[in-house]
Amino acid sequence: EPKASLNFIETIIEENIKNGVNGGAVHTRFPPEPNGYLHIGHAKSICLNFGLANKYNAQCNLRFDDTNPSKEEQEYVDAIKEDVQWLGFEWEGEPKYTSDYFQQLYDWAVMLIKDGKAYVDHQSAEDIAKQKGTPTEPGKESPYRNRPVEENLEWFEKMKNGELKAGEAVLRAKIDMASPNMHLRDPLMYRVINKTHHRTGDTWHIYPMYDYAHGQSDYIEGITHSICTLEFEVHRPLYEWFLNQIYKEGTVKPRQIEFARLNLSYTVMSKRKLLQLVEEGVVTGWDDPRMPTISGLRRRGYTPESIRNFANKIGVARRENVIDVALLEHSVRDHLNKIAPRVMAVLDPVKLVIDNYEGEEEWLTAENNPEDENAGSRQVPFSKVLYIEREDFMEDAPRKFFRLSLGREVRLKNAYIIKGESVVKDENGNITEIHCTYDPDSRSGSGTEASMRKVKGTLHWVSANHAIDAEVRLYDRLFNDEAPDGHKDKDFKEFLNPDSLQVIPAAKLEPSLKDAKPMEGFQFQRMGYFSVDKDSTSEKLVFNRAVTLKDSWAK
Ligand code: ATP
Ligand code: MG
Ligand code: MG
Repeated sequence: EPKASLNFIETIIEENIKNGVNGGAVHTRFPPEPNGYLHIGHAKSICLNFGLANKYNAQCNLRFDDTNPSKEEQEYVDAIKEDVQWLGFEWEGEPKYTSDYFQQLYDWAVMLIKDGKAYVDHQSAEDIAKQKGTPTEPGKESPYRNRPVEENLEWFEKMKNGELKAGEAVLRAKIDMASPNMHLRDPLMYRVINKTHHRTGDTWHIYPMYDYAHGQSDYIEGITHSICTLEFEVHRPLYEWFLNQIYKEGTVKPRQIEFARLNLSYTVMSKRKLLQLVEEGVVTGWDDPRMPTISGLRRRGYTPESIRNFANKIGVARRENVIDVALLEHSVRDHLNKIAPRVMAVLDPVKLVIDNYEGEEEWLTAENNPEDENAGSRQVPFSKVLYIEREDFMEDAPRKFFRLSLGREVRLKNAYIIKGESVVKDENGNITEIHCTYDPDSRSGSGTEASMRKVKGTLHWVSANHAIDAEVRLYDRLFNDEAPDGHKDKDFKEFLNPDSLQVIPAAKLEPSLKDAKPMEGFQFQRMGYFSVDKDSTSEKLVFNRAVTLKDSWAK
């Protein structure tokens, strides 16, 4: 849905276009590190970067920021591509990789050394940190800071060739140890990592730091607007310093713009923490339907539209805030309400016997989606023995209980009006059967006077003989605290919701669902929106609850 007013990034872009900055060009990028699966926070960044490209008839690159071989894997690269495409976006040309630029980045680093703007430091990480100073006190210069260019070149060559161990040397930019901006106090450019990279193998033993690699990669790709989250605002002078070392008149000069990251209540979003949940078996995998990952949301039954609408609705701002996870749930409910076929499924079945029903069976017409006039209708079987939801019957019901009770009437959806007559119980007093009578003249849509009769409640049901069984997985929030990782002295896993998954082994479904395929979504009337899980087979159907219904028919 187009918005009437521009967000602050669009304002900047339109001003840049008007003033002919970079020749009026627009080119964005989405730069994930392939060290985990994408989550809903990334979706916000994807919708923003690709959305801007679409809006300004421009391109958006997908760039894998693969500069740390210890954490990155091909599996993540593949999953990220799938997720971006599933969300409905297309990147410019082939996916890009920072690792494609390792040689260029190295050459530029050598150039900086030759210019006296970078040096090799042999101190430990701790010593370097100690010398950084504080925002109000200048830092201390490294004893290696003023070593000769030749020596720096030699050592950098050794680092590159794998002659050093991790931690024995780093390359630092020589900027200003007294700068009020800590990020300009001789930041690291390269470190030694002797690990195999998922794309470049063992070619490299040095890997560039984010601050050095990112802006230079933006420059190589001709990115005009490099959008990142707010914590990088203080890095911007460094981003610009590195760029200014290589910038050539007449080329595109990228500009870094920061926006507030997405924070969601009841959710952790750091990839490190999500990885922990996967590795410790708290969830079944990155695509567990309780995960805030794009693959988890997809498996749960979210649609790309619902995620894009959510991103659109929360907008883009410069101030940090926390979005209520209910807004995300609302967006999927809203979309599935429009598109999901309605079906009947009984999750907690109890038998309902219609004592005065004479026939064998009959097939009744049921509307597929009242929100979509093109959705048509289907036939559902009706017979003497049905299943209804256990919670839809009460023996001694209060006056306001508008469902089934003894001596009271309800309508069975798409079928007849029935009246509760008696119950059968087992030795523990649990109801095993409810007996009722029906009014044969009251069939929905038959046009008779009895069919128009208003009764207080309408129940869903399935015919016992025709019903098919399915496993149904009901999900609740993974955490029962609003800010699980916002507690100083408590680990986020202390706030795991023990009831985040409830499995119903044998729910009873109407037979039209027999051939439902993974990813298909339905509204189980009165129960919520459900989609077929990837574990589902024709022998054993498995459904996930995507989200509950806000309203049911009987209030
Ligand atoms: P995490 O902290 O979860 O590991 P990250 O920022 O390290 O995330 P990247 O793969 O580097 O993960 O992120 C790719 C892009 O997605 C970056 O441009 C980053 O700004 C953006 N991004 C990550 N998390 C969020 C978020 N919660 N909201 C908006 N954008 C985000
Ligand atoms: Mg990152
Ligand atoms: Mg990270």
